Amino acid sequence: MRIGQGIDFHVFAPGRNMILGGVDLKLPYGLLGHSDADVLLHALSDAILGALGLGDIGLFFPDTDPAYKNADSGLMLKQVLNMMEANGFKLVNADLTLIGQKPKVAPIRELIIENIKQLTGCQYINLKATTTEGMGAIGREEGLAATAVVLLINGTL
Ligand code: MG
Repeated sequence: MRIGQGIDFHVFAPGRNMILGGVDLKLPYGLLGHSDADVLLHALSDAILGALGLGDIGLFFPDTDPAYKNADSGLMLKQVLNMMEANGFKLVNADLTLIGQKPKVAPIRELIIENIKQLTGCQYINLKATTTEGMGAIGREEGLAATAVVLLINGTL
């Protein structure tokens, strides 16, 4: 078994699509990034790469590569999952936390969890959320952060 953790940050940007966990939330603001800036899927992808000992998503999907301009992070996650399978591992569970003052997660939690279950084929996906109680850059609503912890297994439980 292997564990991995990932963390990511993106700045809010008006006029960008807010994509979280692969779901377009249709908000008047989104996140700035070279790709679609899906902070949750980036943290999850990094956690899986971490468990595999393969570095981070910046190595495989550099933000200097025009191929990843506005790229769907769901497709990057799929490539990471392919690497995981090629290394003989399966995703056992993922525990994700979104850190920010907005958007409110309660109304979108199930939508995001369901989409990540679809993307990963894993039924044990948890999504938590917290604010920073107004502290720091995230507290000033400058952007969003996400963390992910995963467990991978080589074989079966
Ligand atoms: Mg990112």
